[in-house]
Amino acid sequence: MFTSLAGRSVVVTGGTKGIGRGIAAVFAREGARVLVTGRHPVDGLPPGVAFAAGDVADAESCERIADLAVSLHGGIDVLCANAGIFPDKRLEDMTAADIDEVLGTNLKGTMLAVKACLPALTASGRGRVILTSSITGPVTGFPGWTHYGASKAGQLGFMRTAAMELAPRGITVNAVLPGNILTEGLADLGEDYLRGMEAAIPLRRLGTVEDIGHACLFLAAEEAGYITGHSLVVDGGQVLPESQDALGQM
Ligand code: NAP
Repeated sequence: MFTSLAGRSVVVTGGTKGIGRGIAAVFAREGARVLVTGRHPVDGLPPGVAFAAGDVADAESCERIADLAVSLHGGIDVLCANAGIFPDKRLEDMTAADIDEVLGTNLKGTMLAVKACLPALTASGRGRVILTSSITGPVTGFPGWTHYGASKAGQLGFMRTAAMELAPRGITVNAVLPGNILTEGLADLGEDYLRGMEAAIPLRRLGTVEDIGHACLFLAAEEAGYITGHSLVVDGGQVLPESQDALGQM
C-alpha cells in the first residue's frame, strides 16, 4: 500500500480533455487537490478538480497558473506537464510555422510549465514532475509526425538534465510514454480503425486515460521518490513485437 496523496496539490497542464483529464480524475479520486489547465474552458470536470485557462507556450501564462495553484491549494507538490498537440503533416509540406507550433507547445511548453512551477515545487520539499511524452519519437516513428516525434524525444532530453539540476531540491523528474490511448479524438476514428489498432497490441486493447493516470500516480508516490530521470512506457506491449510475424505467432 502506497502512502496517500490526499491533500497534495497537483497541477495538470492540458487536463481538460483526453489523457490529462484522466490523470486529473485519478489524482482527485486519491484526495489530491487538482488544478487543470487548457486554452479553453470545458464543462463537467471530475469532482474536486479546478480549472484555469492558460497557454503553456506562453511564459507569463505558465507563471500565472503556478501562482493560482499556490493561492488556491497552498503550493504545488506535483506537476503533470501533459499539454500537447499532434497535427500531422509530411516533412515536405511542413512549414517553419508548423514546426514552431508543435515544438512551442510540446517541448518549450513543457519547459516553461516546469520552470514556472519550480519555486513552489522546491518549497514542497518532495516535488514531483511527470512529463507526458509518447512512444512516438523516443521509441517509434510514425509518418506525418517528424515534428511531433522530435518534440516528444526532446522532452526526454530535457528530463535527464532537469532531473540532475533539481535533485538537490528533492524534486524528481520522470516521464510516461503512452502508446495508443482511447481519447475522445481517437474514438471519432471509428470502430474499424480501433479494432485494427487493438490487433497490433499484445494486450489486445487500447490504453485508457486512467492507465496513464495510474502510471503518473505511481511516479508521484512517496515510495517512488528514488526514481528520477526515467521514462515508463505504458502501451500494452505495443512496441515489443519485432515484426508482424512475431505478432501473428502470439
Ligand atoms: P487531447 O485530448 O487533444 O488533449 C490535449 C489537452 O492539452 C487539452 O486539454 C488541450 O486543451 C490542452 N492543450 C493543447 N494545447 C495547449 C496549450 N498550448 N496550452 C495549454 N493547454 C493546451 O490530447 P491527448 O491525446 O490527451 O494528449 C495529451 C498528451 O498525451 C500529449 O502530450 C500527447 O502528445 C500525449 N500522448 C497522447 C497519446 C494518445 O494516444 N492520445 C499517445 C501518446 C502521447 P485546449 O485545446 O483547450 O488548450
